[in-house]
Amino acid sequence: MKKTVRQNILDVKQYIPGKPIEEVQREHNLKEVVKLASNENCLGPSPKAVAAIKNNINKINRYPDASSFYLRKKLAKSLNVSEDSLIFGNGSDEIIGMAIRTFVDPGDEVIIAKPTFLIYEIASQIQGANIKFVPLSKDLRYDLVKMKEAITDQTKLIFIANPDNPTGTYVTKRELDRFFDGLPERIMVFLDEAYFEFASHGRKDYPRGTNYLDKPNVILARTFSKIYGLAGLRIGYGIACPKVISYMERTREPFNTNLLAQVAAEAALDDKAFLNKTLTHVAREKVFLYSAFKKMGLEYADSATNFIVVDTKRDCKAIFNALLKKGVIVRDMKAWGFESYIRVTIGTRQENSKFVKALSDILILT
Ligand code: PMP
Repeated sequence: MKKTVRQNILDVKQYIPGKPIEEVQREHNLKEVVKLASNENCLGPSPKAVAAIKNNINKINRYPDASSFYLRKKLAKSLNVSEDSLIFGNGSDEIIGMAIRTFVDPGDEVIIAKPTFLIYEIASQIQGANIKFVPLSKDLRYDLVKMKEAITDQTKLIFIANPDNPTGTYVTKRELDRFFDGLPERIMVFLDEAYFEFASHGRKDYPRGTNYLDKPNVILARTFSKIYGLAGLRIGYGIACPKVISYMERTREPFNTNLLAQVAAEAALDDKAFLNKTLTHVAREKVFLYSAFKKMGLEYADSATNFIVVDTKRDCKAIFNALLKKGVIVRDMKAWGFESYIRVTIGTRQENSKFVKALSDILILT
């Protein structure tokens, strides 16, 4: 069998998602488990989205609208972009895959920071691209100067997560402007703004990707998974010039976004109250967690997102396992090459307190 599988696929290290709550309950015989592992919205889904799902549940005998007509109209208006500059995906994960399939031939070069969101590497490997990794700077930020220097004649696509996952850091407007200055237009730039709403909240030097859409080589990706709390529905979108979108559309499966996801996303766009509640909550709880880390003597990266990466100064896998036993699921950063870091998603006050108590108890003993 192995002989018939493509070499690229044999080389792929499969993505390991955050552990589901039920699995940890089963395996550790625990009643109460909190999941702070996948950067989900701890306040639940947008209530307007839930109402829209209830109103449309009896329509699921039909295929979804392949063009996402109503969602497209509403989103285009709210972003002030043309309807043909949008493409929808089964999560923004799928937008990453479509961009690679559209622009990267096997053997072409893709530039990716190390570490960053793992799907860039996996999707590039599946396509058979040559990956050039550029390390983050010492302060755990994208080094756009080094990424630009890494460009060769073979470079086809560059990924920039802004803000980044797992670090939560961001590149500034000044850094991004310099990066684009003189950048050859044959190179596609994938600007991943999965955490845009968190990062743009009160940060003047955070560059909004929509201001770069006049460039023919920019693909912007955003999602309904995070701020709108719809991770389980799988819906995200790409924004680019209509020509780029028209090519990407050729790689899209016709019914990739489901009927309930479309109506929920459309309703969520109207749920400004939920969006603001989430922003206020995350900002407040970030202060709570930062202060707890300081008390424990732990260093962390200042985060522009709803998660924080923190240096436990111990083996992160051991800390991860000890937290699991206490009913707290986080992410250890081993797969990202950070041997002593864990990443924690900002939860409710109750969840955060449980995490802080568990972590400080563990640190005292180790
Ligand atoms: N980009 C980044 C940087 C992410 O952290 C995530 C989610 N973990 C995604 C994209 C994908 O999100 P989704 O597919 O849920 O839209």
